[in-house]
Amino acid sequence: MIIVAVDGPSASGKSTVSRRAAQALGFVYVDSGAVYRGVTWKCVKEGVDVKDAQAVTNLLIRMNMELVLKDQAVGYLIDGEDPGQEIRAEPVRERVADIAAQQSVRVYIVEKLRLMTKFGSLVMEGRDIGTVVFPDTPYKYYLDADPEERARRRAAEIRQTEGAGDVNEVLSSLRRRDQKDSSRATAPLQIALGAKIINSTGMSIDQVVDTIVSDLKKAGVVS
Ligand code: C5P
Repeated sequence: MIIVAVDGPSASGKSTVSRRAAQALGFVYVDSGAVYRGVTWKCVKEGVDVKDAQAVTNLLIRMNMELVLKDQAVGYLIDGEDPGQEIRAEPVRERVADIAAQQSVRVYIVEKLRLMTKFGSLVMEGRDIGTVVFPDTPYKYYLDADPEERARRRAAEIRQTEGAGDVNEVLSSLRRRDQKDSSRATAPLQIALGAKIINSTGMSIDQVVDTIVSDLKKAGVVS
């Protein structure tokens, strides 16, 4: 059982890189941010205030999250429902960092993420995978890119799904989220001990994926 942990700020290229690295390695891909977004989606749907710790805890107690393997990636159903692309939309996007700062949510999700090893070797991306979820894995990466580059990438993504995406607006939204993610008391975004730092500004996706895959080849983990 091998875990490759890929952490970094929003829109640093983690998703694309992790998905492709998982494919190349024959591992299962996990987007842990999607799990935080799923809980946020459920709060929005049920009208639960994401800053109300007690209300959020009560929701976690009564909801059911089932893990499912689909196309070599781990997904989930919340009370039998797949939220789909709704987890990428504005109501979730603007609330997810507040949900992720809730202690009860972190305990709940970290446990789910650890359970995912039942599906096999994983490439898991997030903010605290190398620091908290799987601190013992020797394969840790911290992906970064300049904020302007990250905003350009995310705006292009949003334009694809929503038709419009202003780079400056995205940049300030990313900065707000990075600030919350880096300064929260529980499991803030930080570089894990022993992580390899990759600044992907000016690098192609293939180059970043190659860096990870060739490390694992060198370690003799895959051939
Ligand atoms: O990666 P993505 O942008 O989808 O993550 C959404 C949010 O989920 C992040 O801004 C962060 O607040 C939270 N998150 C987290 N820990 C993780 C993954 C995501 O706190 N491991």
